[in-house]
Amino acid sequence: MRFFVGRPNIPDPDDFLASARTILENKHLTNNGPLVKDFEQKLSELLGVKHVITVCNATIGLLVAIKALDLSGEVILPSFTFIASAHVLQWTGIKPVFCDIDPATHNIDPAKIEQLITDKTSAIMGVHIWGRPCPHDELAEIAYKHGLKLFYDSAHAFCTTYKSRPIAALGDVSVLSFHATKCFNTFEGGAIVTNDDELAQKARLMCNFSFEGEDNVTGLGINAKMTEIQAAMGLCNLKSFSKVLSHNKNVYDYYKEKLYEVKGFSIIDYPVNEINNYHYIITEIDESVYGHPRDEVHDLLKSHGIFARRYFYPGCHKSPPYKNLCGDIYLPNTDSLCNRVLALPGGSGIDDLGSIDEIVHIIKSFNKS
Ligand SMILES: *Cc1c(COP(=O)(O)O)cnc(C)c1O
Repeated sequence: MRFFVGRPNIPDPDDFLASARTILENKHLTNNGPLVKDFEQKLSELLGVKHVITVCNATIGLLVAIKALDLSGEVILPSFTFIASAHVLQWTGIKPVFCDIDPATHNIDPAKIEQLITDKTSAIMGVHIWGRPCPHDELAEIAYKHGLKLFYDSAHAFCTTYKSRPIAALGDVSVLSFHATKCFNTFEGGAIVTNDDELAQKARLMCNFSFEGEDNVTGLGINAKMTEIQAAMGLCNLKSFSKVLSHNKNVYDYYKEKLYEVKGFSIIDYPVNEINNYHYIITEIDESVYGHPRDEVHDLLKSHGIFARRYFYPGCHKSPPYKNLCGDIYLPNTDSLCNRVLALPGGSGIDDLGSIDEIVHIIKSFNKS
């Protein structure tokens, strides 16, 4: 048996193939087709946000969001995130300024932000790591006080909440990822979401070369469009999403119950009063208690065909090009977390709960304490 983190959720094949056939018959393949329109409408209702602009992937979606917000200079973000969060800033000529995280939540620590603000800072970019919400109210207060924009990389946060509010509606704008490995996918894809009418209109134009009408170019643009086949996948996956959620929760609960017995090997909590998608099974290994460092567990599991992941080792600030660009910056909580986190196969990577017994048995047997 082989177990993976981020195995794709697959919809009913007949449903998808019927939709694919319709696309071919209609010969409307892309450029704001009927399925994209339908998909955006359904997402807007589901996510509780006024504007949904679907895009080819979240990385391009973030580039568009950054341009639509007209950012420049420096943007403050956590280093404990997928490298794309930093790349989109660097790619648009903005300096990513890495902030440490709160070890309890893995999210950006609002107490460490103000000391990083300079006269070049134009925004704060939060990342809702594992779908657990950033401390939005604190971030919004800092952003307001210093006249900064606040936007979110919500790649992990499909259908999650913050203080019972839909996460997608927080900040000036937010970008979701529908990559194959995420809890909800359109093969590749994503969405720019906002309640701001003006920003939405600007972003929507930018996604299509900033064409307004047939041949009127209104400004700088790019091609960020979602295709009809991606929207078809999204519409089919939406139909089974509630099943995905309940499966994910069962997998998480079973891991939590089983790992409870393993000292020094803890599974992160999801806030009980919020909605989460339970897509990620994130563990933290305390080497001094468990008896082995994280990397040894990672290698041991791999030798058994269990492909756990060291997300987000070693942190953006220790990866090129940022490693050389930012010099020596001190992010003790990020460094420490990067060395103890291990993501275990969850969601559709686990077909039946018995596999969790096998995985936990291997982890337990390795434990000398
Ligand atoms: C996956 C991911 C992205 C990139 O999403 P794509 O749709 O693959 O471009 C960005 N940020 C985070 C935190 C991610 O996990």
